[in-house]
Formats: sequence, structure tokens, C-alpha cells
Amino acid sequence: MANTYDVIVLGVGGMGSAACFELARRGRRVLGLEQFPLVHARGSSHGHTRIIRTAYAEHPDYVPLVRRAFERWYELEQLTGRHLLTECPCLNVGPPGSEHVAGVRASVREHRLEAEELTAAEVVRRFPAFRFPADYAGVLERAAGFLYVEDCVRAHIDSAVSLGADIRAEEPVRSWEAVGGGVRVTTDRGTYSAAKLVVTAGAWATRLLADVGDGLKVMRQTLLWFDAGPRRAEFTRDRFPLFICDAPGAPFYGFPAIDPHGLKIARHYGQPELSDPDGVDWDVTADDASAIRPLMDAHIPGLGALMKGQVCMYTVSPDHHFVIDSHPAHPQVSVACGFSGHGFKFASAVGEVLADLADSGTTRHGIGLFRATRFGNAECGTRSAE
Ligand SMILES: Cc1cc2nc3c(=O)[nH]c(=O)nc-3n(C[C@H](O)[C@H](O)[C@H](O)COP(=O)(O)OP(=O)(O)OC[C@H]3O[C@@H](n4cnc5c(N)ncnc54)[C@H](O)[C@@H]3O)c2cc1C
Repeated sequence: MANTYDVIVLGVGGMGSAACFELARRGRRVLGLEQFPLVHARGSSHGHTRIIRTAYAEHPDYVPLVRRAFERWYELEQLTGRHLLTECPCLNVGPPGSEHVAGVRASVREHRLEAEELTAAEVVRRFPAFRFPADYAGVLERAAGFLYVEDCVRAHIDSAVSLGADIRAEEPVRSWEAVGGGVRVTTDRGTYSAAKLVVTAGAWATRLLADVGDGLKVMRQTLLWFDAGPRRAEFTRDRFPLFICDAPGAPFYGFPAIDPHGLKIARHYGQPELSDPDGVDWDVTADDASAIRPLMDAHIPGLGALMKGQVCMYTVSPDHHFVIDSHPAHPQVSVACGFSGHGFKFASAVGEVLADLADSGTTRHGIGLFRATRFGNAECGTRSAE
């Protein structure tokens, strides 16, 4: 029947593109609906690169999922013949008592991961571009790297389409509703029915998912590229790692100089929490660069001018863990949102989890940490996008 599908995926960004691919791979009749042109720069999955790392500071329970994500990214590379993931060591560094460094060590211990403990002096000997106070400590892990974020989204979309998925750009979903055991989804162009709905709306989950989305906040973040200048050789991938520095009150992270714009550096959290994506200012300002400059001067002195900037959105959950679950009120609906600024690396595995949930309501992957009801919002209804 026209306009009737096995599964509708609402939002074809990082997670939705992966869900479309996995569902199409399983032979499901899939419709993906995206409000913007495909692979756009108005959500959360743009800005050239994303870190992927295994010694997961946020909780040891993420480690099996990130291992599965690595496998699925490599598989996607082989399927498409595209280069998506570059291995690169990741230095986690912070002062005594750093929660980030403690979290990395907890995952290393629990999952017996390989990682190297370094003093601040050892970090600087190994990577001369850095400066850290003597009491800082580093944990260097090699099972890390970066993903070319837009290429990953495009690879999932192209692969899904080649497997028969119907992916429609510039068709915003205005509302969805549970109808009997299935769903009905309305856009400006029509009404679609399906047995299952997967909601992967990123920052717009704050509007599209009643109650499930209520605890979520949107956070504007900027990605900033700085000129490495005459010291460029110190920042190439063979001499400079990915890093996450848990500077007190101002955690920040960065990449080696892997593109013509220099080093990409960004703050993590620490920005105002907004209630919806329309509150985001998409222009990069001089204030964005000056907010990060003191951190750079303290820890990576000598970097040059700002070469490029991009704004991107975090969708932050109250405990900074993801929300991946069947909808508490409508088991035919699965949700994946609240990725809290650290979700992209998992997209390849999240696609598999979402396909599992759409297929059977369960998954073999450990997603207990991501329950939708953990914030006390068990009574969930539907909601329109307005
Ligand atoms: C600056 C920055 C740096 C980051 N760094 C990292 C990192 O290094 N490593 C990492 O793992 N993660 C990182 N993240 C987090 C990661 O990028 C996100 O968690 C991930 O991209 C979220 O994907 P998503 O699919 O939830 O959102 P999106 O990719 O934004 O997808 C949601 C899609 O839904 C669409 N949509 C919404 N509403 C509708 C509607 N009504 N109708 C149709 N379509 C709709 C949107 O247009 C969008 O395309 C970072 C994020 C930012 C912003």
C-alpha cells in the first residue's frame, strides 16, 4: 500500500541514518523523514570529525557498545569502500581528583583495557606541544580515533537507499500518533502509516517526545579551528594525539592538525542550557574564540589565529547518559535521544539497537543505563513538532 511502511524513522541525522541502514539491511520497508537537506549543518552531526574512544570515562557500561560500534564502522567502510575512521591515540589528562581521568581508569580496570599512565612531565616529553601543571596525570589509550562525521552519515544514507530505503529530505514531520498497534506520521506533504516508529530527532526530541523529551536541554557548542602556524609539524597526527583535558570548570578537547584549517578545539559542556533548538545562535562570534583562548594559552601555547568556526548542538539529558529505549507508553515507538555531546561514535551500533527494538522490543546490547523512564517520566504521550 502506498504511504505504508514497516518502519518510519523520524530524523535522518547521525542516529537516524544508521537506523535506516540497519532496518533496510534486515529487509524492512523503511521511510526516513528529514526536515533539512540530507547531511546538513543545523543539528548535531557535522563539523568534520568526532572522537571515538574505548576507555569510556562516562561509565564502564559503554565499553561493549563502543566495541560493537568500532566493528560496525569498519564493516560500513568495507561495504562502501569509503574511509570513515582513522585510528589515533587519545590522551585523557586532568588534575588530581579529575572525574574524567578517574572514569577512564574505571573502564580500563573493569574491561582490562590497554592504557598507559603518564605523569605531566611524561606527557610533555612524549608530546612537546603540551603544557600541564606538574600534578596533572594522563592516561593514553591507543584504541581510539576519529570519525569523519558527515561522511559517516552519508555512507549510512547511501547504503540504506541502495538497500531500498525511501529517504525523503526537506520534509519536516509535523506530528505523530500511535494508532492501534501502529503509528501515523504527518508531514506537509502527506500522512504515512507504519507498524513501527523510530524517533531519532536529535535536539528536536525536546519537542517531539512528550515527557521523554522533557528532561532534555539543548546546548550550543562551537567547534573552532586554530592555525598551527610555523609549529605545524608538532601537531601532525604522528606527533600529537587526540586529547581530552579535564581543566577545572572548563573541560576541553582537540584533534591533531588533520585538515587545512589547523587544529580543531572545543569546550565540552559549560554553556547555558536552552529549552529548545530555536534558541541557538548559529553564528560563531569573537567571544567563542576568546572563551577558549586562555585554555589554549595555558596548555597548548603558541597556536595562531582562528581559521574557521562552526556551531553545533548538544542534547543534554539530566545525567548526561543517553536515552535509548522503547517509548514507555507506546511499545511500537523506539526513541534514541539525549546523546549529551558524546553520542556520535556509537551511531553505527545504535542503528543496530534501534532495529532490534523495532523488530522485537528487545536487544542483546546492554542499554539498561539508557532507560527512558529513569527521570520519573513514565506517563508519556505523543506530541507535535510545533
Ligand atoms: C560540537 C560537538 C562535538 C561533538 N563531539 C563528539 C565526539 O567527539 N564524539 C562523539 O561521539 N560525539 C560527539 N558529539 C555528539 C554527537 O555528535 C551527537 O551525540 C550525535 O551527532 C547526535 O546524533 P542525533 O542523530 O541524535 O542528532 P542529529 O544528527 O542532529 O539528527 C537529528 C535529525 O533529526 C532531524 N529532525 C528533527 N526534527 C525533525 C522533524 N520534525 N522532521 C524531520 N526531521 C527532523 C534533524 O534535522 C536532524 O537531521 C559532539 C556534538 C557536538 C555538537
